[in-house]
Amino acid sequence: MEKGNLSIHTENIFPIIKKFLYSDHEIFLRELVSNAVDASQKMKKLADFGEFGGDLGDLKVSVRINKEAKTITVTDRGIGMTADEIKKYINQIAFSGATEFIEKYKDKGDEKNIIGHFGLGFYSSFMVSKLVQINTLSFKEGSEAALWTCDGSTEFEIQPSDKTDRGTEIVLHIAEDSEEFLEAFKIKEVLEKYAKFLPIEIEFEDKIINNPSPIWTKTPADLTDEDYIAFYKELYPFSEDPLFWIHLNVDYPFNLTGVLYFPKVKNDFQLQREKIQLYSRQVFITNEVKDIVPDFLMLLHGVIDSPDIPLNVSRSFLQADGNVKKINSYITRKVADKLAEIFKNDRAGFEAKFDNIGLFVKYGIISDDKFYEKAKDYCLVKNTEGKHFTFGEYGEFVQANQKDKDGTTVWLYTNDPQKQDSFVQTIKKRGYDVLVLDSPIDSHFLNNIEYKIDKTAIKRVDGDTVDKLIEKDLKLESVLSADDQEKLKKLFEETLNDSKLQIQIEAMPADDMPVLVTIPEFIRRMNDMAAVSGQRSMFGDMPTTYTVSVNANHAVSQRILNTTDADAQRSLTKQVYDLALLSQGILLGADLTAFIERSVKSLN
Ligand code: ADP
Repeated sequence: MEKGNLSIHTENIFPIIKKFLYSDHEIFLRELVSNAVDASQKMKKLADFGEFGGDLGDLKVSVRINKEAKTITVTDRGIGMTADEIKKYINQIAFSGATEFIEKYKDKGDEKNIIGHFGLGFYSSFMVSKLVQINTLSFKEGSEAALWTCDGSTEFEIQPSDKTDRGTEIVLHIAEDSEEFLEAFKIKEVLEKYAKFLPIEIEFEDKIINNPSPIWTKTPADLTDEDYIAFYKELYPFSEDPLFWIHLNVDYPFNLTGVLYFPKVKNDFQLQREKIQLYSRQVFITNEVKDIVPDFLMLLHGVIDSPDIPLNVSRSFLQADGNVKKINSYITRKVADKLAEIFKNDRAGFEAKFDNIGLFVKYGIISDDKFYEKAKDYCLVKNTEGKHFTFGEYGEFVQANQKDKDGTTVWLYTNDPQKQDSFVQTIKKRGYDVLVLDSPIDSHFLNNIEYKIDKTAIKRVDGDTVDKLIEKDLKLESVLSADDQEKLKKLFEETLNDSKLQIQIEAMPADDMPVLVTIPEFIRRMNDMAAVSGQRSMFGDMPTTYTVSVNANHAVSQRILNTTDADAQRSLTKQVYDLALLSQGILLGADLTAFIERSVKSLN
């Protein structure tokens, strides 16, 4: 037997490892199982290269629990280690890694996923063990099996072992405070999280728990739609089928594979984030991919696998990392190109899916100018007839009719076709077209594109009277004299008596509504955007002001002026105003009751 001291500058590193990784004890299993997989893959390679002529045998890795002995054992049939290799790889290298680790992270307590990347992987087993044994036999001919034992202090023992089959067996003697890991369901859970797609079979309780060749490791040409959908279901059981997917595959200037799926998302998009899983050589790392995947694509589902994403560094460093930036723009480009391809090859299918895809496209347009440059050619808008247009097509479609006196083309939209129906109908009677922009992202979206699309203004149908929404040189004449108009205005002001109301008399077509209540586009947009982002508007509690436009050319205006009885005159004024509110669904409570009573009375 040989005894020795681990060469280490720090007195005892295990308490430090424990402290740093306190929240993440379960990763010991990820580290041991991936070491076992690495050793097995190396064995395969050696055989492929003709450097090993013997029998490879079954390479599967097994994980076993012994509740009585309180041990967890991870066994592989990989390359194994000689006693010298244990000293070299486990004793020295790991500890120099440990020193580096401590140097780098002594001031930070919150880093996850650090461990495997400092050659500390194996030592994470001490987070849950009071004693660890390595029983191993190297594949090299004539090797002697060795048994290494260490109790987590800086001392170790190494002695000959009677192991006769090739490979390594790691035995963890579980510490009292970690006995939860002796429960099968716990180990199963951890394996399913980290080892689900490891490239060598992993056996636990007589079952293979992983899929060693997930589709992202295969060539797209060899895969069918069914394969992609089946894999989606494997990742997210019980989910609806995805709309489509993108197979990522680059090896220069960085290495990345993966499959990203476009799920069916409607408006509950906050619930759907954090569905992309990040792997490094098929080892699950995290589902926090914030800095790697552009924010607007966080709603996508799927898998990204890259050994080139630094996992051992802090967030701010990750954002500045050159590879991460390249990966980010690569993903953006792939998604933009895929959408362009579907648009080009299957316009009808693209339109049918646009209710779901639209959210990504619009979010991307808002947040990424490079994406906008591509997406502007296929982002769609839909009118009240259900017809889809690209921006370019829509501009063409409305420009002859909807250009105002300054040459700006005005796009009109409704965000609630039901509620704003009377506005929509009035506008359509004028021969104008109306878009439906009714998703939560649309208020941001239209602000954004209005500024990007040349000489275009976008206005909501209830923002003003039709003639003010699209101001033309030709104006309708008022049938009322200036005096009468002034009288009518006064009458409305006195009757409605509300400082939030701006009364104006307008010459509109005689068959338009007698009164129109509108909220100025600008104020309304501020409020909409504030509502979406959950913030107050920049004006704080700015009271909403309404514009009340009275149609001078409607017969009822003349009738109001001609009514001599003051009560009847007031009642009629109130009635036409209430009708305007009613048409927007904002006549409520006592006002609504009074309106109905007044109407019923007028039936007598
Ligand atoms: P890392 O895996 O990051 O190199 P580890 O501390 O996990 O760091 O392992 C150190 C080294 O010990 C490995 O690089 C490998 O050479 C050796 N090793 C660990 N586990 C095994 C195993 N199951 N079979 C063969 N060699 C192993």
